[in-house]
Amino acid sequence: MTIPYSKPSLDGNEQRYLLEALQDAHLSGDGRFTKACHAELEKTANARKALLTHSCTAALEISALLLDIAPGDEIIMPSYTFVSTANAFVLRGGVPVFIDVRADTVNMDEALIEQAITPKTKAIAPVHYAGVSCEMDTILDIAKAKGLAVVEDAAQGLGATYKGRALGTMGDLGALSFHASKNVVSGEGGALFVNRPDFAERAEIIREKGTNRSRFLRGEVDKYTWVDKGSSYLPSEIVAALLLAQLERADKINARRVALWTAYHHAFEDMERAGKFRRPTVPQSCSHNGHIYYLVFPDAASQARARGRLVEAGIGAPSHYVPLHSSPGGQRFGRVAGSMKNTDQIGDGLLRLPVFGHMTDEQHARVVEIVLGL
Ligand SMILES: *Cc1c(COP(=O)(O)O)cnc(C)c1O
Repeated sequence: MTIPYSKPSLDGNEQRYLLEALQDAHLSGDGRFTKACHAELEKTANARKALLTHSCTAALEISALLLDIAPGDEIIMPSYTFVSTANAFVLRGGVPVFIDVRADTVNMDEALIEQAITPKTKAIAPVHYAGVSCEMDTILDIAKAKGLAVVEDAAQGLGATYKGRALGTMGDLGALSFHASKNVVSGEGGALFVNRPDFAERAEIIREKGTNRSRFLRGEVDKYTWVDKGSSYLPSEIVAALLLAQLERADKINARRVALWTAYHHAFEDMERAGKFRRPTVPQSCSHNGHIYYLVFPDAASQARARGRLVEAGIGAPSHYVPLHSSPGGQRFGRVAGSMKNTDQIGDGLLRLPVFGHMTDEQHARVVEIVLGL
């Protein structure tokens, strides 16, 4: 592949901090690098409380435990998402209830939430696709009126906002990812934003194997013990050291990605008008982070043709999710509420183009040239 789909930018303080973490010889979690990451995330997102986890999947699992999801409880979510949005709840016996996405933003259609609510509904899990926010005011209003929790899957959302609020800080809980495929990476990694003060202490306990070790480390109790359900969800200091270096440069990485995204967007305007494909829509209320630039072709055949031409030219151009409602796991563990028309169409037609921090203007121009020739 001459132009990869994605590639991390690792030329800041990554090596220095990794070496320092090794020299500290504090390799388990919750040392100084983890604390610095918490502070940085809380400051830049204006979040009440951030907790590093070993993945976004782990942050979602903590959320399901915090909400005491029990067998039969229903969680409304889009079908066009990564498996972890659903599996975190399925692990507790929860039932994902899939609703369609909007054709313009590829986010859950907020107008379809109410028809999916039943007496068993416990939570709504909006997924901010490509770092573009869901229509959170409407979602939060519905949740409040119906007494439902909101868990934001903000895996792709670091640095993006909705009406000035950081993604992941608007619901009761928000999950972020620092997987190698995201904008800011630690290989595997994630974080949980705990936005409700009454969840703060229990979130720490669940993350620390069901113990009150976090209070012990702060000197609040003289020994720690088993107090609740939990598992091992915290990352090592090695991971936190790498992440801190990335968080320091998050704005720079995101700015370059947004510039590349915007240049694609201008370049393909005429082709959209000619009906070749649809370009992404970013609502006025959203500021995004350039996580994904995608095109939505009219059908699977035209998408496959375009993908073939790009791959032939050595350009990484992947499709994205197999909609969960049509996957074996989704059929076994979840159910659909209403038509999945947009989800099916986007599942067939969506194609992603390369965007990464160190992508050169020449590489970008080459991708544009191939797409314009489609
Ligand atoms: C990447 C991603 C995840 C999973 O993140 P991990 O950190 O790999 O667990 C979950 N949901 C969405 C929408 C994602 O894009």
